[in-house]
Amino acid sequence: MVEVHAKIKEMKNYAKENNVPIMMDEGINFLTNFIIKHKTKNILEIGTAIGYSAIMMAIASPTVTITSIEKDHERYLEAVKNIKELGLENRITLLYKDALGVELDELFDMIFIDGAKAKDLAFFEKFSKNLTENGYIITDNINFHGYIAKDEKEIKSKNLRGLVKKIKLYIDYLKENKDFKTIFYDAGDGIAVSTKV
Ligand code: SAM
Repeated sequence: MVEVHAKIKEMKNYAKENNVPIMMDEGINFLTNFIIKHKTKNILEIGTAIGYSAIMMAIASPTVTITSIEKDHERYLEAVKNIKELGLENRITLLYKDALGVELDELFDMIFIDGAKAKDLAFFEKFSKNLTENGYIITDNINFHGYIAKDEKEIKSKNLRGLVKKIKLYIDYLKENKDFKTIFYDAGDGIAVSTKV
């Protein structure tokens, strides 16, 4: 088995060199502290990328198990390799699929949404049935690199403006959702924590 710290550093470097978006340090700290504090047992992650956040969550709590879904083949294979090298394959199950086409019967006490940002709402609606009664749905990139706070006219790219609009709609959806209470945190790139009311 490879040395954990060296492997984490290697994954961060790989992400940087290959333009793979992974969670910021502050966001990861928030997530791992959350898992420890809430004694989280079983996590569903949407958006594995190269397995960085799944690995960090598994390392944070030795009893946690994670199911993580990734639709990009190259990233999925990189995640499989990273998880195997750390001997975590018994605790992290990877699914190479589009999450929107996956049907799961299992219940999770945490669902971590970190896939395509334009699909946050679709992921939330699809997987909220897989949440335990007292579980949490956590969504990353709620501030979307500061763009959510900006005036739309300041955003030159049409695609980016469209994406920002969708994230804003998702934020409104969370605020207005009568079945869930959501708290928004400024940690990392902005994190929303939703619980059933
Ligand atoms: N959670 C990862 C981490 O911090 O290490 C980063 C995930 S990255 C922000 C988002 C990932 O979600 C990308 O690798 C992308 O290919 C994947 N993705 C986007 N839409 C998806 C979908 N519908 N189903 C599965 N994976 C998806």
